[in-house]
Amino acid sequence: MKLDASRILLVHPLGYRAEEAGADISRVANLMPPLGLAMLAAYLERHGFSASIIDCFAHPFSDAAILERLRTERPAFIGLSCTTSSFLDGVRIAALAKAALPGIRTVFGGSHVSALKARLLEDYPAVDFIVVGEGEATLLELVSGGWEAPASVEGLAWRDGADGPGRFNGYRREALVLDDLPFPAYARLEGFPGAYRLPIFNYPTAPNSSCITSRGCPYACSYCDRSVFRRSFRFNSAAYLYDHMRHLRRDFGIRHLNFYDDQFTLDRRRVERLTDLLLERPLGMTFNCTVRAEHIDADLVARLKRAGCWMMSLGIETGDPELLAQHRQNPDLDHLAGKIRMIKKAGIRTKGLLMLGLPGESEASVRKSMDYVYALPIDDFNLAKFTPFPGSPIYEKAHELGTFEEDWEKMDCMSIQFVPRGMTKARLEELFRAFYEGHFRRPKVLLGYVAMLWRSPHSWLRFLGSLGAFLAFTRRTERKAGGTP
Ligand code: SF4
Repeated sequence: MKLDASRILLVHPLGYRAEEAGADISRVANLMPPLGLAMLAAYLERHGFSASIIDCFAHPFSDAAILERLRTERPAFIGLSCTTSSFLDGVRIAALAKAALPGIRTVFGGSHVSALKARLLEDYPAVDFIVVGEGEATLLELVSGGWEAPASVEGLAWRDGADGPGRFNGYRREALVLDDLPFPAYARLEGFPGAYRLPIFNYPTAPNSSCITSRGCPYACSYCDRSVFRRSFRFNSAAYLYDHMRHLRRDFGIRHLNFYDDQFTLDRRRVERLTDLLLERPLGMTFNCTVRAEHIDADLVARLKRAGCWMMSLGIETGDPELLAQHRQNPDLDHLAGKIRMIKKAGIRTKGLLMLGLPGESEASVRKSMDYVYALPIDDFNLAKFTPFPGSPIYEKAHELGTFEEDWEKMDCMSIQFVPRGMTKARLEELFRAFYEGHFRRPKVLLGYVAMLWRSPHSWLRFLGSLGAFLAFTRRTERKAGGTP
């Protein structure tokens, strides 16, 4: 039977065996909707295609659902959005789809494939096409017939002949205007919003969700992969963003949003305008955002607070100024500390984002990070295990700077894949544990969590409900049970 050329099935792979999903602490703590796929689905549907989404991260054991959709809908394309750690699971699903529905074409997108591009086509026969960078226009061109003449599709990597080499046509010359895009197809996400959850203690109320309002970042931190949206910064206007928030509030009952932008306040005028709109016509919503110290000041913080800002995250990375200077522009830790104090004083919860094990990290630099964080009014922090991802400037040099295992399936920032020179994996794990323990032993921090009883009662209920999983995590510090300690 013929395949339906007007249909595509979009899949967000889990990244590991479905049986392990229940013990995955990152799923327990945080389950974000696959917004990229929802944006692609909305864009394709606007252009006459029918797109369905299966999110294996929210719904493990989805192989049967995928096969059922392939059998009933017979889509001509399956699209898989993958990170580094979920790429091989994506390849497995692609092979499954090809076996179940001969003739189906597999398309991969996301950060990992955008970084490695055509070379993946040579190593993985189940991958037919790779959409590099911003996905909407390239995917639309591909499914609209471009697959027959792939050399003409900008932004596409493809295989030249059945066993031929991979080719990449180069990035698209024109970026999309974000206000021209439809809102993500949230309704295509099974169980949205109830099936998804922000990190515990990172929101006051439920239902809540994440929302992306910009693409790209002009900075060039050594550890950050910019392969998808690169270094331009484009954003939705305040009016579009207000309408988007209203849509989420009115049609899905969302009461709190996490703006999942790299730099929410990079364009000051847009934030001023948005806060004006939210104050003139309140939506009854609160929100979180991520900011850089250079792009926040007392006036803007006060505006954001009045408009409903509940928490701000700031990238600290390390409290060692010399180490920071090796990896990031404007590495002024005193300036950053001042901004964190200012945000806290305005009544906004603060979250620090740090990394452990950067190239150049030492016992002394970890101690400096602890001293730095513990001296600041930081309510919450996330300590990622540094991972050199393909596409980040440091990736190419990682093998020279330490021991790099490069086991893609474990490259999720929760497993130590890179050990800087002079350190050991075991010592890094001990320091990781000590960092969190030190944080939770501070009376002010503990009081802050007590205050969450009334500031975020929903978080406490979740926390108590998942206490076993959290206690198990403190013992192993790996994402899933069975990981190497
Ligand atoms: S880490 Fe943040 S500031 Fe640095 S390049 Fe990435 S998104 Fe930009």
